[in-house]
Amino acid sequence: MEAEARKKLVADNFNELFGGHPQFWSRAPGRVDLMGSHTDYNLGYVMTMTIDRDTWIAARPRQDQRVCIHSLNAAGWGDFELETLEKTRGCNWTDYVRGTAWALQQAGYKLTGFDGLVHSTVPFGSGLSSSAALEMACAVMFQQTSGFTLDPVEMALIGQAGENRYVGMNCGILDQYSSTMGQAGSALLLDCRSLSSQVTPMAAGIMVVICDTRAERNLVGTEYSERRTQCEQGVEILGKHYPDIEALRDVSIEQLERHNGELPEVIYKRCRFIIEENQRVLDLKQALPDGNRQCLGELFRDSYLGARDLYQISALAMESMYHAMLAAPGVIGARQAGAGFGGCMVTLVQAEAVEAFAGQVQKDYAQRTGIQPQVFPVMAAAGAGLLK
Ligand code: ADP
Ligand code: MG
Repeated sequence: MEAEARKKLVADNFNELFGGHPQFWSRAPGRVDLMGSHTDYNLGYVMTMTIDRDTWIAARPRQDQRVCIHSLNAAGWGDFELETLEKTRGCNWTDYVRGTAWALQQAGYKLTGFDGLVHSTVPFGSGLSSSAALEMACAVMFQQTSGFTLDPVEMALIGQAGENRYVGMNCGILDQYSSTMGQAGSALLLDCRSLSSQVTPMAAGIMVVICDTRAERNLVGTEYSERRTQCEQGVEILGKHYPDIEALRDVSIEQLERHNGELPEVIYKRCRFIIEENQRVLDLKQALPDGNRQCLGELFRDSYLGARDLYQISALAMESMYHAMLAAPGVIGARQAGAGFGGCMVTLVQAEAVEAFAGQVQKDYAQRTGIQPQVFPVMAAAGAGLLK
């Protein structure tokens, strides 16, 4: 949708709901990982990229301590007091808004309420971080209505705290960090331990294309926590030999192999994937600007095969999509995106072949699964802020 038409749609609906015009507009993008599945909570590296799909909030400050929030993308709304957030959780999607407000207040910020309307072009629950985009758009709006300024990294940490401790999803820092720190036109190499990042340009002639399987993501919450626990168990066992190890980030393949026999097989597989995936992120830092197609293809392939066979986060629909992507014209590399268990996959495609690629994947995947996928190219957008 064109930006002007989108703005009109939101302004018209705001007027219907609240009467009058919004005073401020905030925006925060979704993101996709080009490499680094599940490495964030292992304090490792991720190659992440914002996408040109984002969440907007149009709002007008209120005189009292209430927030009244609606969304054009979801049923239900929230109308809540900022002082009594503890008592009102567990309602609906507005928990992400309440959680952000809660975490800001926990960090000592005094908030002014607002009437707000959300609109997003990030698909929900498919690994492109619609939840972080909503949280970061909220955090930007609270700064605007309440008159304070946050450093982008602090803003990401506050969003993560809200999602971890208020919403109850034990996510890493990746999603929120990408949404605030993302740079237009480039990927970002994020170090999840130091929370620093390096802008990483991509060679000309390569496009990033998202392939959304649109398959139900089942069990993602429980499987996710199980993977986290398994990684911690790996660290505990290896830590007996190497006391300096705090996270899988600190373990080399040689160390893992030396103690292979002491680890239950499933723990070994999880650790092996994370250690290798972490190295692939660093390798991609070289390959992405160089544009070496063969190297990019191998890194993406190894990431998917590891995710499927070692970390075991693939799903039938993802396997079908993987084969559809690899059979399509112009493909350079194909892998999972987000946490796995369905949701989106990501490919690098020759720029001139994007249309042919998308057409072919749509047809092929639908034939394999009976599900109509969504296939769309994305470009890196600027990080969260006020809407220009
Ligand atoms: P992901 O972050 O990968 O998209 P999550 O399960 O973490 O998936 O978050 C998706 C949830 O975030 C949705 O089910 C909904 O509750 C909430 N959400 C995200 N964007 C919006 C929006 N624009 N309007 C209302 N709720 C939203
Ligand atoms: Mg999320």
